[in-house]
Amino acid sequence: MLVLLLVSTVAKAAMKTENVFLITTDGLRWEEVFNGAEELLLNKENGGVKDVDGLKRDFWRPTPEERRKALLPFFWSEIAARGQLYGNQTKGSVAQITNTRRFSYPGYNEFLTGIADPRIDSNNKIPNANTNVFEWLHTRPGFHGKVAAVVNWDVIAWILNAERSRLPIWTGYPLPANAPVLIKFSPELEELVADTTPIWSSVIMDTFTARAALDYVRQQQPRAFYLAFGETDEWAHDGRYDCYLRAAHHVDRFIQRLWQTVQALPQYRDKTTFIVTTDHGRGSGPQDWRHHSNKIDGAENIWIAILGPDTPPLGERTNCARVTLSQIASTVAAVLGEDFHGAFSQAGVPISEAIRIPGK
Ligand SMILES: [Zn+2]
Repeated sequence: MLVLLLVSTVAKAAMKTENVFLITTDGLRWEEVFNGAEELLLNKENGGVKDVDGLKRDFWRPTPEERRKALLPFFWSEIAARGQLYGNQTKGSVAQITNTRRFSYPGYNEFLTGIADPRIDSNNKIPNANTNVFEWLHTRPGFHGKVAAVVNWDVIAWILNAERSRLPIWTGYPLPANAPVLIKFSPELEELVADTTPIWSSVIMDTFTARAALDYVRQQQPRAFYLAFGETDEWAHDGRYDCYLRAAHHVDRFIQRLWQTVQALPQYRDKTTFIVTTDHGRGSGPQDWRHHSNKIDGAENIWIAILGPDTPPLGERTNCARVTLSQIASTVAAVLGEDFHGAFSQAGVPISEAIRIPGK
């Protein structure tokens, strides 16, 4: 017992990661992450593309390797060189959700709490009964007041159970009635959000979320931070493959900018891990690429990227063990040397191959 305790204390002290960022973009398919733009959808008929020549100029290339790099340059330079990417099923790496719903709230719940909860059957604003990893980290020594979420979809404040968790959360929309308002942004940003013609009813443009996140990180320097983007899902549902690709390209740029920003700050440099994933996949083919649900084949397939000082630089993973969305919460904690799975045994275990265990 004492030996075990000593071993775990030593392991914790030896982790290089002191800060963790979980970043998600809703419903971005593994197909685009690993193969780039898909030819079948680069047209008006299937992809609702308005400027086919312009889109091809920006994202069509002869090989999948060139296409994915054109679409997601940060993923396929920095993360591929120094981190890991799971989910290329054509190369024997499978990443999947374990909930059977294949839509958003069940997916966000799965990666934030580690549990695929069959009780969650809608995207309604119902306070989540499950404890999420950020709420739990907030109770750990050294993390109080150092955990926050800046997200683009109003329902996430209920998924994080803002009333119970008391986490600082910004969605650009009203929070649950009894949740404390702990993040206020500059009047300029609030004015830009208010003055922009909304496209969707409960999802704001990723541009604002990215700006809000950057401002918050510079000013407050959180140690555990959740950042959610969502245009990728909305544009796909709207049947606009052009906007879907451009939104994905922007998410890559936002992540790059955030990475460069934190690497320039002493609190974060060389001691910060980014974990990037999505809440569900989508179907395939000329119609089903737009959709995801328990009736859509393939919507259970996702991707996971991880970059940080405790992650072996294995790049694009091939022929490896299946990983799941339910492992994200414990992985977020594990890179900090924290044991979320130990506290919540139903939660998935950390993705062990993504973390270099000190002394091994
Ligand atoms: Zn979703």
